[in-house]
Amino acid sequence: MIELLEKSLDELQNLFESYEIPKFRGKQLIDYIYHRHIFDFQEMTQFPKELRQWLIEHCSISLPTVVTESVAPDGKTKKLLLQLADSSRIEAVLMKQHYGNSVCVSSQVGCAMGCVFCASTQGGLFRDLTVAEIVSQVLLFAQLEGEDIHSLVVMGAGEPLQNYDNVLKALQLIHEPTVFNISYRKMTISTCGWVPNIYKLADEGLPITLALSLHATTNEVRRTIMPVGAYHALDEVLEAVHYYYERTQRRVTFEYILIDGVNASFKEAHQLGEIGKKFPNCHINLIPVNGNEHIDLYKPSNENMNTFKDIVSSYGLSVTIRKEMGDAIQAACGQLKVAHGRKEEIHE
Ligand code: SAH
Repeated sequence: MIELLEKSLDELQNLFESYEIPKFRGKQLIDYIYHRHIFDFQEMTQFPKELRQWLIEHCSISLPTVVTESVAPDGKTKKLLLQLADSSRIEAVLMKQHYGNSVCVSSQVGCAMGCVFCASTQGGLFRDLTVAEIVSQVLLFAQLEGEDIHSLVVMGAGEPLQNYDNVLKALQLIHEPTVFNISYRKMTISTCGWVPNIYKLADEGLPITLALSLHATTNEVRRTIMPVGAYHALDEVLEAVHYYYERTQRRVTFEYILIDGVNASFKEAHQLGEIGKKFPNCHINLIPVNGNEHIDLYKPSNENMNTFKDIVSSYGLSVTIRKEMGDAIQAACGQLKVAHGRKEEIHE
């Protein structure tokens, strides 16, 4: 079967040509899927019967099924727990911001990175998501809301740079004017620091925003909370991020989880300021760690978090403490899935 959620307009038109189907049907099909949200070929009544039959026999539109939908009390954050064809489950989050609708997508089922604070990695990596599975997370929210999606962050479960080809192809599709028409500047890939693919992404020449999950200012601390630190030393990661900045001229974001007693001392705030200073225009996003019964970590007091922030900004840097928008609905990476129980997944 040909998976339509993996095809660009060009690819569809070429496919149709090779079957002697008029090219303009490609645009109509894209319109049905991404704008009218019609996924049943029988309902594509603009198409002649023979074409509908051909689509039924040759093509599929594989959307995950929605297991649960949770909405934060303020109605601004929605989270979907989705079930894929092989019964794996993933999460996607919609955040209604003042500048528009932003969707956070997962890139893998599970994750191999093993960060100690992260719920997504607790069962290890099961598999990479396909292009269609990444695109469909955006499509489901567009359908559910009946609204355009304006920006995209690849910050859900998984390490996107370890599923490089599928993530990049999905972003290219999402970018297409006939699909979601989201500019690359409004897309962010968050990575724990998978160095070779930071260079690779830099060389694609796309103005995608890079966010680095830094989370520590020394190799010693970083290694204790992020096993990837044993593969790539901090200097090596920061050098790659610098290269990314040089190539794309995009403002880099550093994410820094604040974990009481682990990485949130005021000395570390100064060290973070020193690191940030080397990246012109960078933004530092401080994230109060989100614990749960499986993750026995705590955020510092509000007072200490504010002092930490003030120290970092005294280095002339743009710093924010992330609003815990999703807290009420367990939107931190992988938490809904964990809370909902993973037993029903076939592979577990
Ligand atoms: N693998 C990628 C993207 C997924 S995680 C990465 O590491 O960047 C997205 C962000 O959520 C990362 O910055 C991650 O460190 C953070 N995160 C994971 N678990 C968290 C938790 N319990 N509390 C707060 N932030 C968390």
